[in-house]
Amino acid sequence: MHGGWQKVVGVGAVVLALLVSALGAVPASAEAEPSKPLAVVATTGMIADAVRQVGGERVEVRALMGPGVDPHLYRQTSSDIAAMARADAVFWHGLYLEAQLEDFFAALGKRKPVIALADTLPRDRLIEHDTYKGRFDPHVWMDPRLWAGVVTTAQDALVKLDPAGRAIYEANAAAHLAQIEKLAVYAETAFASVPEEARVLVTAHDAFNYFGRAYGYDVLGIQGISTDSEAGLKQIEHLVDTLVQRKIGAIFVESSVSDRNVRALIEGAAARGHKVVIGGELYSDAMGAPGTYEGTYIGMIDHNVTVITRALGGEAPAKGLNDRLAARN
Ligand code: ZN
Repeated sequence: MHGGWQKVVGVGAVVLALLVSALGAVPASAEAEPSKPLAVVATTGMIADAVRQVGGERVEVRALMGPGVDPHLYRQTSSDIAAMARADAVFWHGLYLEAQLEDFFAALGKRKPVIALADTLPRDRLIEHDTYKGRFDPHVWMDPRLWAGVVTTAQDALVKLDPAGRAIYEANAAAHLAQIEKLAVYAETAFASVPEEARVLVTAHDAFNYFGRAYGYDVLGIQGISTDSEAGLKQIEHLVDTLVQRKIGAIFVESSVSDRNVRALIEGAAARGHKVVIGGELYSDAMGAPGTYEGTYIGMIDHNVTVITRALGGEAPAKGLNDRLAARN
């Protein structure tokens, strides 16, 4: 028994010695080549992707919101709070996207760097909110050239947090920005191949205003229309008119749209001899599954561009810009 104690004490002493030497080594190694990556928590998948692309191996990113999660309604869980307490920095979108996290981040920001990446975009490039003066549409990721500003802000923030990594962050950001520019050119070319009168996106969410502005498309929403009321029926009728007159062959769904509205539109158009199909599902406020191409910013937008273009009668390769989109039928 006595020997056992000695052994425990011995191990304890070794651990303590290791700890002391590790602590002693921190300042020197942090300046040169930190062995431990910067621990970052990010809110949306898109913000996490921007930080990952720029940070590379120097940064370890944990995203709070996975596929299908609505950032407008998201509230932090207890494991999120624990992760944020341990993190070196927290990156979020801002522009009131994560409305339920505003107060939490205001408090956390007094204790560690909490950085809203989209908040630094020039206001004259943003779309002002219809009803709230001084507030802006947060869905800036739908316009790749606007999103590029978010990536640049991520680079500046990482350089400030970890100046030793400057060269790496700048090189990674430049490479990612080149990919984003390629995506912007692809989107421009693809969307311009759609017949002019068909350049209308009928979809559920209000997430596509920046897309509409960037590429000259009308964006019409079908969310929140009630087919029970006279006003709702009038709105449906008006949408059917638009579909028929402009020969729009496809509308786009998200899980949040009621089947009834989609069916009412398709049947309404059919009754007037015009065929409308469901053009596919678009990514609006969250990316695809982690580890897939659609689970990256580039893949998410590539998917949307390719699906919209092909469904509306334009030309784009089935597997998209990088030949990596998952096969659909
Ligand atoms: Zn949204």
